Amino acid sequence: MARIVMKFGGTSVADLDRIKNVARHVKREVDAGHEVAVVVSAMSGKTNELVGWVQGTPKVVGANSPFYDAREYDAVVASGEQVTSGLLAIALQAMDINARSWQGWQIPIRTDNAHGAARILEIDGSDIIKRMGEGQVAVIAGFQGLGPDNRIATLGRGGSDTSAVAIAAAVKADRCDIYTDVDGVYTTDPRIVPQARRLKKIAFEEMLEMASLGAKVLQVRSVELAMVHKVRTFVRSSFEDPDAPSMGDFLNPPGTLICDEDEIVEQEVVTGIAYAKDEAQISLRRLADRPGVSAAIFGPLAESHINVDMIVQNISEDGSKTDMTFTVPSGDVDKAIRVLGENKEKIGYDVVQNESGLVKVSVIGIGMRSHAGVAATAFKALADKGINIKAITTSEIKISILIDGPYAELAVRTLHSCYGLDKN
Ligand code: ADP
Ligand code: ASP
Ligand code: MG
Repeated sequence: MARIVMKFGGTSVADLDRIKNVARHVKREVDAGHEVAVVVSAMSGKTNELVGWVQGTPKVVGANSPFYDAREYDAVVASGEQVTSGLLAIALQAMDINARSWQGWQIPIRTDNAHGAARILEIDGSDIIKRMGEGQVAVIAGFQGLGPDNRIATLGRGGSDTSAVAIAAAVKADRCDIYTDVDGVYTTDPRIVPQARRLKKIAFEEMLEMASLGAKVLQVRSVELAMVHKVRTFVRSSFEDPDAPSMGDFLNPPGTLICDEDEIVEQEVVTGIAYAKDEAQISLRRLADRPGVSAAIFGPLAESHINVDMIVQNISEDGSKTDMTFTVPSGDVDKAIRVLGENKEKIGYDVVQNESGLVKVSVIGIGMRSHAGVAATAFKALADKGINIKAITTSEIKISILIDGPYAELAVRTLHSCYGLDKN
């Protein structure tokens, strides 16, 4: 007997029939004698609709409006998960399974005060553990907890993954299964590249890069938590027959295991390709080349919570003026330009230029640490397709390349095949 946390994403609970299907997956594990806690997302599309209600009518409460209140945003958008947790508990009870729904505040899952993007600080798993021991399935609303102000706080988009891993760590689960609409983590988004291959295993560090660089199959924070707390996490499909014998294989369930790199025997040089849309580039021209200039630029941007990503600075020709280019999310461009304008004299530049609608494509693999020439292969493959590179950044285990938006899919497919990732 083991303790399992099962998480079901939006498409897996999109309607009542799918919720009944999810109940069959849960029943399989209960019948096998396991203690089970379930984490659910809102029905697919629901969170978008709720966010739209809060933010979509600028005349009433646009996110930049002085009337906008992040606490009430959370009160509204957390409701989607409340609905699915209750519905799944009912579906389970209808199958004679003892089940009870839990909202984040009832457990409680304690978070910090960053409404809309809160971090989980602490979970009191004792009540759930006790009830699971009595044979009750806990059906927990994902994506939410209780802030220090005693109000509902949500964890950022995709946050139910994080709820699930955090709960798995808190109740010391033997496994955390993330059920979604694909049957595992692929070498790249299988919706963009049909030749993508499912990975049997992926290292925590690689998954962390994949998720941070745009692969939304897992929320970044969930991977961090899984890595830190050593939660055995599988990504698998809720659309497979719940009663197929392989689905109940405890040690080797169908899907992808996120694990320590030592567990991966055949390590490839490149494991996957990720992409992030809606990047924007900002360039400061004829910038004074002096100590402190970077601090003068990026300090105020950071204070305004603008997430700066790739940074490229030219070596100046005459030692007095240079150019600086960096990227921010497209949605932050106007704010960034405003902040740079307010600090123009302190920074000392001539003009600021910007371009939106760019895409960052990234090549990821821990095998890169010990292999030369990985970047050169990407540059050549993109050049052969006539794709212009606007900026490049690298780390030990990834290369990120900024390109024009319309080339995104071509670039992902090109990189995927140039590293031999296409399935035969
Ligand atoms: P859920 O609602 O279950 O949380 P998400 O839509 O958040 O599901 O995440 C699953 C989706 O992630 C898939 O449908 C797929 O299109 C996308 N995805 C992006 N990159 C990858 C990848 N490398 N492997 C698998 N899926 C990926
Ligand atoms: N329902 C939330 C969202 O759509 C959380 C999640 O699905 O993980 O972002
Ligand atoms: Mg998700």
